[in-house]
Amino acid sequence: MTKGWTKSDWRALPRVQMPDYPDAAALEAVEARLAKYPPLVFAGEARTLRARLGQAAKGEAFLLQGGDCAESFQEFGADSIRDTFKVMLQMAMVLTFGAKVPVIKVGRVAGQFAKPRSAPMETVGGVELPSYRGDIVNDIAFTPEARIPDPQRMLQAYTQAAASLNLLRAFSQGGYADMHQVHTWTLGFTEGEKAEKYRAMAEQISQALAFMDAAGVTREATQAVGTVDFFTSHEALLLEYEEALCRIDSTSGKPVAGSGHMIWIGDRTRQPDGAHVKFCEGVINPIGLKCGPSTTAEDLKVLMARLNPLNDPGRLTLIARFGAGKTDDHLPRLIETVKAEGANVVWSCDPMHGNTIKSSSGYKTRPFEAVLQEVQDFFRVHRSMGTIPGGVHFEMTGKDVTECTGGVRAVTDDDLSSRYHTACDPRLNASQSLELAFLVAEELNV
Ligand code: PEP
Ligand code: MN
Repeated sequence: MTKGWTKSDWRALPRVQMPDYPDAAALEAVEARLAKYPPLVFAGEARTLRARLGQAAKGEAFLLQGGDCAESFQEFGADSIRDTFKVMLQMAMVLTFGAKVPVIKVGRVAGQFAKPRSAPMETVGGVELPSYRGDIVNDIAFTPEARIPDPQRMLQAYTQAAASLNLLRAFSQGGYADMHQVHTWTLGFTEGEKAEKYRAMAEQISQALAFMDAAGVTREATQAVGTVDFFTSHEALLLEYEEALCRIDSTSGKPVAGSGHMIWIGDRTRQPDGAHVKFCEGVINPIGLKCGPSTTAEDLKVLMARLNPLNDPGRLTLIARFGAGKTDDHLPRLIETVKAEGANVVWSCDPMHGNTIKSSSGYKTRPFEAVLQEVQDFFRVHRSMGTIPGGVHFEMTGKDVTECTGGVRAVTDDDLSSRYHTACDPRLNASQSLELAFLVAEELNV
């Protein structure tokens, strides 16, 4: 932590992508209430995640981070959380079994509500209104009232995050995530070649576990495979919310973001002297930093020094998001910077945000082939430079949506309208996610 840092320091600095609340008193009242609420996550858990990410930095574990682009109040429900959790378990299983590496599972969940936007205003049919900034800020409905930032939404986001965490903790500790359940994680609609491959892998795991049970190693084995750690993460964009949930870790005496285990800084808010970097500087949580084509070596150098002055291997995850075909232009130069600084980081690949296009049918989409290519390029560059690919970051859902084109089940431009439910960016569906997990496992095995 930076000496003398306080959780309100960001207020004196330039901020971008944050709403201007019209009613300052209403905002203050909400902040005061949130400040009294219990933290959503506990400092010890954030420290555990940080230690595990430290293993990923060394190639001894692998980070799987994924979930919605934006969580929505409307779509909230037990089924969608369960389905996304299931797919993440499946993907983790493919990675663990296929690549023989422990997988750190981190959801974009229980806090991923605020969205940066490419433009402050949005025009539809000649009408111009402020952009939608995520359910924690305003409403997606295209009316002037809906788009007014409302601080009360922070309380609803907190409640939804608490309920989500409650369910996730039950799933991960209550036996649902027990490896013995590997067959039940299969979702009904995951069909095709990869689903078959998954079932075959699940069968092998079941047999191995049955053998261990029979051989009497059940007790230890069950402890290792009977529960799963699942962590939460989100972009720390709405700093009033982050500050209100900031707490002091009673063990270390240092500030911790109580809003989620890991928080990240987006591609649009990583100004070294800006508000978002300042807030993240002072909390002990693991921090993600999105790196895009506009990330300069100089900025990265300053950001690494600011965010990870002690060079702790699990503190900083650099999330590369350049776009298919652009990785070779940017990743090597940033890897050189990291090497030159002797910095310890986790390198993760977000193959989603550089690959968003408008389809011929008018929907925002991502071609699955572009997503695959960016992942492959990421691994190839790391191999050629002798550095460690430590993780992946996906926008995905357990639901059978049609938001990204391509994949084994070949979603076409015309299919997009059939099940396009995202509140923001297009997500991989369950089959596409699983397909990607097999590809990553292959890349890790090379
Ligand atoms: C996101 O992760 O949803 C996002 C907006 O990413 P980026 O900041 O990389 O554009
Ligand atoms: Mn997104």
